[in-house]
Amino acid sequence: MNTIETITALCTVPGGAISIIRISGNEALNIGNKVWKGKQKLSEKNIRKMLFGHCLSTDKLQTTDPALAVFMKKPYSYTGEDVVEIHCHGGPLVSKKLLNTIINCGARHAEPGEFTFRSFINGKMDLTQAEAVGDVITAHSDMALKIAEKQIDGVLGEKIRKLRIQLIEIKSEIESRMDFSEEELDWQTSEELNSSNQQVIEEINNLLDTKNEGVILREGVKLVIAGRPNVGKSSLLNLLLGYERAIVTPMPGTTRDTLEEYATLRNIPVKMIDTAGIRESSDIIEAKGIERSISSINQANIILWLMNAAENPEEEFKIMQENTNGIKNIIPIWNKADLVKDKDALNQLLKDNSQINPIMISVAKEQGIENLLDAFEKIVWHGKHHGETETAVSSRHAALLETTRTAVIDAMENISNEDWELAAVGINKAIYSLGSITGETIDPDILDTIFSKFCIGK
Ligand code: GDP
Repeated sequence: MNTIETITALCTVPGGAISIIRISGNEALNIGNKVWKGKQKLSEKNIRKMLFGHCLSTDKLQTTDPALAVFMKKPYSYTGEDVVEIHCHGGPLVSKKLLNTIINCGARHAEPGEFTFRSFINGKMDLTQAEAVGDVITAHSDMALKIAEKQIDGVLGEKIRKLRIQLIEIKSEIESRMDFSEEELDWQTSEELNSSNQQVIEEINNLLDTKNEGVILREGVKLVIAGRPNVGKSSLLNLLLGYERAIVTPMPGTTRDTLEEYATLRNIPVKMIDTAGIRESSDIIEAKGIERSISSINQANIILWLMNAAENPEEEFKIMQENTNGIKNIIPIWNKADLVKDKDALNQLLKDNSQINPIMISVAKEQGIENLLDAFEKIVWHGKHHGETETAVSSRHAALLETTRTAVIDAMENISNEDWELAAVGINKAIYSLGSITGETIDPDILDTIFSKFCIGK
């Protein structure tokens, strides 16, 4: 992505009541004044003032729709460049026409994430903050949003920069040993140097401890509801969603395809998948649905396996075991607790299979659901939930932190052996990896990959 051209894009979702089109770059003011006219011009006199006027149409540059416009002078704008934003009517045609006019006047259509990329290149934010802009947009839970906002504030970037400075100090100690003879300087001992390295490793371990949280909050959990037909899978999906998404009938085999919905359970973003009931079926459509169910089960992070506690529990139990053999993260559930008459048979079954302890619920009576959610939460967080955590690293950050940790551990061994050259290589590698998290040192191809995941207009 070059940063010379002036770029433009629609920043709002097409079809809303208002559209905002942003123009960023050296020509922003010039182009802005060509495509928008008001009583006052967009100019240095009117910085950050919302002005009323009209946009101009492509061909003859005649005034058309009413529109507001604002000029933000560099570096005090989102991108750190001159920026003009025009607020026009939201109809897709109005915004498309205006965008074309802007392009005809010399701007280029922005690539996905290009405004944020420019903000990063112009030093308005580091890479962790830029990534957090994407996280804010895609956040599906309060907790995910809170962590993304903290990251935008620079909390993670600051922690990484501190570690990097600590390593740079260690590096200069090591390099001075390579450059000067022993009598010349008052050096730290190897033990002192490694104690600093150990502090770095401990802080890295703390950050890596939040990886599970980071991945779950950013990517969500794939939760599959499976079981035989008619055990209450669709009813449970509806109850967890809080609205009637799936059709519920007393007839087995109603859900013939997998249904997918997004929700937040205990502040965890979840993609819930209701599957066709597992049974032998000669119906081609149902059989296809069952095939999809099995594939969903294999791809799930967590499976809620529902069984009817009131009818043939032995059979239900056997089918669960046959279909989930070797699969981890299953929460076995007895549903229809309200219909159970023979509690003894159920208890006996549990005694004979003491390693499996299903949760007893009644979707119809809304009983036992909190216990189910407790079990779900426990599996998701693996017992490691920081609750009030300020940072939660992403998979990209975690991979770089792991590289850093390995490099520091290698360097520590070389420091103990007083092999200063090798120690310097390790510390340099660690400094580079940390710099790739904040973007201070990073391969341009990796930058392109990160920003290409953004939406256009961001
Ligand atoms: P699915 O085929 O597994 O998706 O099952 P459904 O959700 O369609 O439910 C099948 C039938 O069982 C419907 O008539 C539901 O109203 C009923 N049902 C679901 N859960 C319960 C429950 O906890 N108690 C009782 N009594 N009926 C339930």
